[in-house]
Amino acid sequence: MTLLEAKGLRKAFGGVVAARDVSLTVERGEMVALIGPNGAGKSTVFNMIGGQLRADAGSVLLDGVAITDATPQDRFRKGIGRTFQVAQAFLSMTVLENIQMALISRHREALRLWTPARERYREDALQLLAQVGMEGTANRSCAELAYGDVKRVELAIALAGDPKLILMDEPTAGMAPAERSALMELTDTMTRSRRLGVLFTEHDMDVVFGHADRVLVLLGGQIIASGPPEEIRRNPKVREAYLGDTHGLRPLLTSSP
Ligand code: ADP
Ligand code: MG
Repeated sequence: MTLLEAKGLRKAFGGVVAARDVSLTVERGEMVALIGPNGAGKSTVFNMIGGQLRADAGSVLLDGVAITDATPQDRFRKGIGRTFQVAQAFLSMTVLENIQMALISRHREALRLWTPARERYREDALQLLAQVGMEGTANRSCAELAYGDVKRVELAIALAGDPKLILMDEPTAGMAPAERSALMELTDTMTRSRRLGVLFTEHDMDVVFGHADRVLVLLGGQIIASGPPEEIRRNPKVREAYLGDTHGLRPLLTSSP
């Protein structure tokens, strides 16, 4: 069964139609990139799938079950993880504590007070940290971490929810190219080994073409093309769509296969 199916999603902000009849699917073990120039409507689509925005029309199904009206918390429990949301408490806790909190929240044990929080899920949390290559920082405060390391911890937090699907809206924004590749490489490995579905957006076309199984191109709130990376790269409509977009044009046209 299809993991994620979005059908006919629409969202308008006043007179601006940010998403118009957007339909897409993500299968288990698949990485799907949603690309498009700034203002194309990518975040709007992510937010309708994650539940932060209510769609004006259309539906979202996870494993065939409609979640169109579910809250973000509900969607999280049903298996949708996101990497961009950093809780307020994040920076005041250690790396390990953050992962433990995510595990506690997943098991809805916040009210079970007889075991001290610092002992709960300690082993599971350390294992998750090892998977993202962060076991050495377990006892450091998140506030001290380098940006790329914060992103790794965020990925571990998302994984702590045992998600079926991960939504990554510009996960590598602000990262140096080497850090960027490393995070996407890690995401790729996790996706394949856990058979997760990933929907991501990313401005670096080398990253997109290097990791996506399928690419969807959004322009003016509509999907104008979709297909395997090589097909998208050659698609004249896509090349035209990026003309004049200084952010996306050159990488798309010049990156090597
Ligand atoms: P992208 O993520 O592709 O850059 P967005 O989804 O953020 O695009 O935005 C799509 C369009 O919707 C833009 O024109 C943007 O200005 C508008 N928009 C997005 N969010 C809001 C909002 N909360 N209120 C009003 N307009 C919005
Ligand atoms: Mg955006």
